[in-house]
Amino acid sequence: MKVLKFGGSSVAKPENIVKIKNIISKYNDPIILVVSALGGVTDLLLEAGSMASKQDQSYKEILSTLEERHLSTIKELIPVTAQSQVLSKVKSEFNVLETLLEGAFFIGEITPKLSDKIVSYGELLSSYIISEYLISEKLDAEFKDSRELIITNKVNAKSVVNFVKTNANCVDFFKDSNKKVTVCPGFIATSEKGASTTLGRGGSDFTAAIYAAAIDADILEIWTDVSGMYTANPKMVKQAKAIAHISYEEAMELSHFGAKVLYPPTIQPVLSKGISIVIKNTFRPNEAGTLITKSKNEKGKTVRGISHIGNIALLSLEGPGMVGIPGISKRFFEVLSQADISVVLITQASSEHSICVAISADDVEKAVTIVNEAFEYEIERGRIKEVIPEKDLAIVALVGDNMKSHQGLSGKMFSTLGKNNVNIRVIAQGASERNISCIIDEKDVKKALNALHEEFFEENIKQLNLFVMGVGNVGAKFLEQIKEQRKFLKENLKLNIRVIGMSNSRTMLFDEKGIDLKNWSSKLAAGEKADKVKFLEIVHSLNYRNSIFVDNTASEEVSKTYSEYLGNSISVVTCNKIACSSTFENYAHLKSLARTYNAPFLFETNVGAGLPIIDTLKHLIASGDKILKIQAVLSGSLNFVFNNFDDKTTFRNVVKQAQEEGYTEPDPKIDLSGVDVMRKILILARESGNQLEISDIVNNPFLPEESLNTANNDEFFASLVQNEAHFQSLFTSAKNADSKLKYVAQFDNGKASVGLQEIPKGHDFYNLEGSDNIVLFYTERYPNQPMIIKGAGAGAAVTASGIFADIIRIGNF
Ligand code: ADP
Ligand code: ASP
Ligand code: MG
Repeated sequence: MKVLKFGGSSVAKPENIVKIKNIISKYNDPIILVVSALGGVTDLLLEAGSMASKQDQSYKEILSTLEERHLSTIKELIPVTAQSQVLSKVKSEFNVLETLLEGAFFIGEITPKLSDKIVSYGELLSSYIISEYLISEKLDAEFKDSRELIITNKVNAKSVVNFVKTNANCVDFFKDSNKKVTVCPGFIATSEKGASTTLGRGGSDFTAAIYAAAIDADILEIWTDVSGMYTANPKMVKQAKAIAHISYEEAMELSHFGAKVLYPPTIQPVLSKGISIVIKNTFRPNEAGTLITKSKNEKGKTVRGISHIGNIALLSLEGPGMVGIPGISKRFFEVLSQADISVVLITQASSEHSICVAISADDVEKAVTIVNEAFEYEIERGRIKEVIPEKDLAIVALVGDNMKSHQGLSGKMFSTLGKNNVNIRVIAQGASERNISCIIDEKDVKKALNALHEEFFEENIKQLNLFVMGVGNVGAKFLEQIKEQRKFLKENLKLNIRVIGMSNSRTMLFDEKGIDLKNWSSKLAAGEKADKVKFLEIVHSLNYRNSIFVDNTASEEVSKTYSEYLGNSISVVTCNKIACSSTFENYAHLKSLARTYNAPFLFETNVGAGLPIIDTLKHLIASGDKILKIQAVLSGSLNFVFNNFDDKTTFRNVVKQAQEEGYTEPDPKIDLSGVDVMRKILILARESGNQLEISDIVNNPFLPEESLNTANNDEFFASLVQNEAHFQSLFTSAKNADSKLKYVAQFDNGKASVGLQEIPKGHDFYNLEGSDNIVLFYTERYPNQPMIIKGAGAGAAVTASGIFADIIRIGNF
């Protein structure tokens, strides 16, 4: 014999019930078919009971919706000729239910006994209707009320199955039953005094296990709406996968810590008989599902699943009077147990100074009152402090039989959470060492589960979540490069890059599934109004692991938000130079936030666009080298300008061309005045370990005073025209000296300067083409022949690829 249980969603709609019939029709063995109430009905019955007890008439509406739903299920499933008897039976049951609810309404109270009675109608009706449907489909089926078989005793106000009586009843009944399918309601039972009782929320799984164990079934099949027990709740972790094979103990631990797919008590009865459990998907019956058996997983896998329980509160009992005094914890737990409050997790500090327990937040008010009452004597004398509850917490647990024989798992767990800025309130390891659990803020659960899942189950693929501010020249190229490279990165570097948010100065757009990079621009245009503060708030509230804020703007305002990102463990990648060239204090603060919150702050493109200048500098220093001198041409735009300017062109036209081709900053004066190069050499000096301010840099300008003082681009270009003779004289002087004009930045002996120089033939800078940059690092290890980095140092495509390289550095971090 086999026992099959179909849960609430599997029986929620008539078409689902047809699926059940199709599934069981393929079985040759006799079946006990245990069913839940139609999906959502138990909740509605409880709600109706609660409203009636509050003398709220609206319980009647719930009742009529429920009646309508059951009647229409009958009408859809059962042929008209056979309907009337089933309809009238169900209507009469609803009449009884109405009377029960009326009772609660008139008295203004609902007892646990009455509540159980009311709620039992869910399973009673569903199983009756399904049995009649199967009979009408010519299956050899019958209905059997579980209340005639499963008997419960009261223990501490809780219904506990009396296995001796129950097993005897089951054996007795099924030995004579010769039907192919016996349909039984899940969840419900009878007390020894004959009242309807229930087995706890999710209890239909338990009903099925009780039957399976009682009759020594070949197998217990739990049919639900997911294809097995997953590595994590698939509703929270998209990447979760069904676990093919798992041990009873692992399954029990996962379900105890919140994997709702299996009600925790279910395993015990079948475990003692060695009956396997299979979890299958009613909607995808061909998928293998999960097999739960005695055999351990031999492949040495350590962590098998991650589960969580939300709505948790912590109660801490603390005080000097607890040290060395026996019996305090005993009293603490007794008080909770007498009030029927179950303790999910316990920790005690070795000093015995405090005991901390996790309970359901629903019980917290009651718990605080009774514990404070029980310890009133000690509290009054200052030996114990009043218990103070903490709410809005959740437990996250890693589970696996083989975890005990592996070191470093908890370290990995906590460092993963730490890296993602998830604060851990309490840590506990089960004595069986089959689980490591911790308590965190409820708001961090999704992030924690995903980060842990990535760490323990997707070791190969790391997800990076980008929030991109600025989608102009550089930003657009950057998005295009991501689109082109995504597949390659996933396959080769095991990085999955998603752009979750983007903004330009007008609008912003978010998509938690990742913005489609084929048509981002039209979607962004139709997005909500841009707002930097709101953008930041959304990035915080989405609370994704591996979040990276990418700044492709040149905006000072945007650069001022970095600390808010870094301080929340969100990495920052920027081509905007303003933050790193602002005060040393701010630069150092941002770097320190990055270290403290484990969030890289990378700005490779601040100097030399995509050239690996800062990265090389960092590596030189990290490996113990010392920078003695830096000489560099760091302005792609100025190099472009002076490489194209001669006595046949005008200075204004060449600058205009550089602007149009995207080599200059939006305001070209930032380049031509030398400010941009000052910022760059300042950043290199700082990255070399020097505490410099921008005011320490000597700037020898080549622009006339008048051009430097212009108020906007138009005035600036007009002044260039006015001063053409000055520019021509610079050109002629260099030409006469057989030299070329180069804008050079220098850092030597702690001093930095920038300015235009005539570079003679044979110098490393002489042949620098187009918009190229060059940097010479003279170091202790490279004292005479400098280390040279040279290549395109401006332009949207290379800048974008530099930003991209920083993102990949974070991916490998
Ligand atoms: P049923 O009504 O069939 O008894 P439940 O809703 O009780 O179904 O249980 C199935 C649900 O359990 C899934 O839809 C899923 O949301 C949730 N769940 C939580 N953790 C897990 C897990 N580790 N594996 C599978 N499902 C899980
Ligand atoms: N119907 C009950 C509940 O919703 C029992 C079950 O479905 O397992 O909790
Ligand atoms: Mg369930």
